[in-house]
Amino acid sequence: MTPFAPHVYAERRRRAAAQAAESGLDGVLVTPGPDLTYFLGYTPAAETERLTMLVIGADDPDGATAVVPLLEAHDMVVGAVGGVETLPWSDGEDEHAVAARLLRDGGRYAISDAAWALHVLGMQRTLPSASFAAVTHALPLLRAAKAPEEAARLAAAGAGADAVLAEIVRRPFAGRRERDVATDLAELLRAHRHEQVDFTLVCAGENGADPHHEPSDRVIREGDMVVMDFGGLADGYGSDITRTVHVGEPTAEEREVHDVVRAAQQAGVDAVRPGATCEDVDRAARGVIEDAGYGERFIHRTGHGIGLTTHEPPYMVAGETTPITPGMCFSVEPGIYLPGRFGVRIEDVVVAFPQDVPGVDDAPHAAVRLTTSQHELLVVE
Ligand code: ZN
Ligand code: ZN
Ligand code: ZN
Repeated sequence: MTPFAPHVYAERRRRAAAQAAESGLDGVLVTPGPDLTYFLGYTPAAETERLTMLVIGADDPDGATAVVPLLEAHDMVVGAVGGVETLPWSDGEDEHAVAARLLRDGGRYAISDAAWALHVLGMQRTLPSASFAAVTHALPLLRAAKAPEEAARLAAAGAGADAVLAEIVRRPFAGRRERDVATDLAELLRAHRHEQVDFTLVCAGENGADPHHEPSDRVIREGDMVVMDFGGLADGYGSDITRTVHVGEPTAEEREVHDVVRAAQQAGVDAVRPGATCEDVDRAARGVIEDAGYGERFIHRTGHGIGLTTHEPPYMVAGETTPITPGMCFSVEPGIYLPGRFGVRIEDVVVAFPQDVPGVDDAPHAAVRLTTSQHELLVVE
């Protein structure tokens, strides 16, 4: 992915240090994966068993240090956007003892969710009085509020996903397998800005009633509702869209269920307003579905955050009382699932309270959709 300017990463590290301090933590331990990309602009060519860990101290916002295998130290210095010290360790050394020099025994640290157990346990053994908590639990909102330059990448990824949808609905559905349409979706995502395809769900007829059905050899027929949910990463940032189409003329019931989901999705988007919390989005979307008598058939949360990954905090779910703040980007994706028959889901990613996001209108709405493909039921052949 194209790196941002070095000051962007320095500012992110400063913010992490401040959030850690506010939460009574001594620091944040960042290992390879989206967190390291976020805070250092560096993604190792291959993730190995050797410890790579950026240490951001709560008391030293400008003094982050990266513990790095000696043989990768050069790659990191060249590959990273810069501004951090490196502390190399050599094969044969105890890497956890090296890292421990930057930490305090008795300290409390947040560590990347994806850190290997090998290293978490190694750090714990080396510093028996220190404690370590997953970032998702200790500092869930570390990457949640997107800066305008990040929201612009998400908008570009969303535009790519919209282009994919526009092309796929012009292709034939009847007579092809779910798997064939899924293969097309993956190719189209790559053709429209995406360097990584994360998922291409194609769920025809009764398979649409299973929200996570994987594309199969099921042949799509005239009369099927088809749920398509796809996305991936474009220049490092995620897309995620769902539309439900119908092969041939839909029945009145199919139209009605689709209309309910469409109204629920709109209600979820409209629930983003000053003072709203994540669970308000879920409650608004779910309320529409409950009022229509399908409450029992909406069997998942309403949405999830998106950024350097396609699923991350915050979650739009009952009990999530986190306030929605400017720049948060998340999906709104209610659905109705009728077992043995069909399902409908509609999903867009939105940016909350956008401020000067290139490529996003400053419409008079609190939440702006980053995918705008038509929401009316699409009829395909
Ligand atoms: Zn039908
Ligand atoms: Zn999705
Ligand atoms: Zn989603």
